[in-house]
Amino acid sequence: MTLFPEMFDAIKQSILGRAIKNNIISVDAINIRDFAFNKHNKVDDYTYGGGAGMLMQAEPVYLCHKAITDSIDSSKKIRTVYLTPQGRVLNQEIAKELANEEELILLCGHYEGIDERVLNEVVTDYISIGDYVLTGGELPAMVLIDTVSRFVDGVLSNDESAMTESFSEGLLEYPQYSRPYEWHGKKVPDILMSGHHENVEKWRFEQSLIRTEERRPDLYKKFVETHEKDKKGRFIR
Ligand code: SAM
Repeated sequence: MTLFPEMFDAIKQSILGRAIKNNIISVDAINIRDFAFNKHNKVDDYTYGGGAGMLMQAEPVYLCHKAITDSIDSSKKIRTVYLTPQGRVLNQEIAKELANEEELILLCGHYEGIDERVLNEVVTDYISIGDYVLTGGELPAMVLIDTVSRFVDGVLSNDESAMTESFSEGLLEYPQYSRPYEWHGKKVPDILMSGHHENVEKWRFEQSLIRTEERRPDLYKKFVETHEKDKKGRFIR
C-alpha cells in the first residue's frame, strides 16, 4: 500500500525479478490514492494540534486495506506491517519469521506519517529498518521484501544460499576471494588453495569470529555469551 507504486519497479530486477517471473513470489503495489474519497484525489491533510507537515488520512488507507483483504482468499488474518521508524528494528530473525507467511500487506507512510486511528485498526506489526528517518516507507518496504524473499524456498539458487551468510550463526561472514589468485600484489590466503575442506571451514569460522569482534562487538559479545568452548578453547558452533 503506497502513494508511489512506480517505485516498486526497482525490485523487479536480478534475483527478485527472476523469482517474480517464476511465480515464486509476487509483489503488487496498490495505490492508496485510488481510494481517495474526494474529487481532488487528496489523501493527506494538516495535523490536529498544529505542527509542520501533512498527515495521510485514515479513510483512504482503510479503504485500500479493506479492498486488499477482501480480494485475498484466506481464512487466516493477514499480517499488516507498517514500515515506521517507531517499529521493531528489522533483522534476520524477523525476516525469517515473516517468510513463513503466505501473504503480507506492507503499508508505506509518507509526509509526516499516517493518522493513528487507522493504524490501530489495521496494523499488526510495526517494523523499522533502522534508527534514522526516511521520506517514505517505500524503500523500507523494498528492503523488507528483499530480505524476506531470500528465505522463501526457490528464490535463491543453491549457490546463493542464505545459510552461510552474515548473521546466519550470529556472526559476520568470513572474507571471500575469487580469481585471479594474485591481484594488486595481494595473494589469496594459502589455506583456501589447499583443497583441505575441514581446514578451510576452521579458517573461515576463525575469520568470522575475528571480523565480528572487530566490526560488530555487540554481536560478538552475544555470541560469546551463548556459545561454549571445547577443551582446546575453541568455540563450539
Ligand atoms: N513523523 C514520523 C515519525 O517521527 O515517526 C516519521 C514520518 S517519515 C518522514 C515518513 C514515512 O517514512 C513513515 O510514515 C514511514 O512509513 C517511513 N519511514 C521513515 N523512516 C523509516 C524507517 N527508519 N523505517 C521504516 N519506515 C520509515
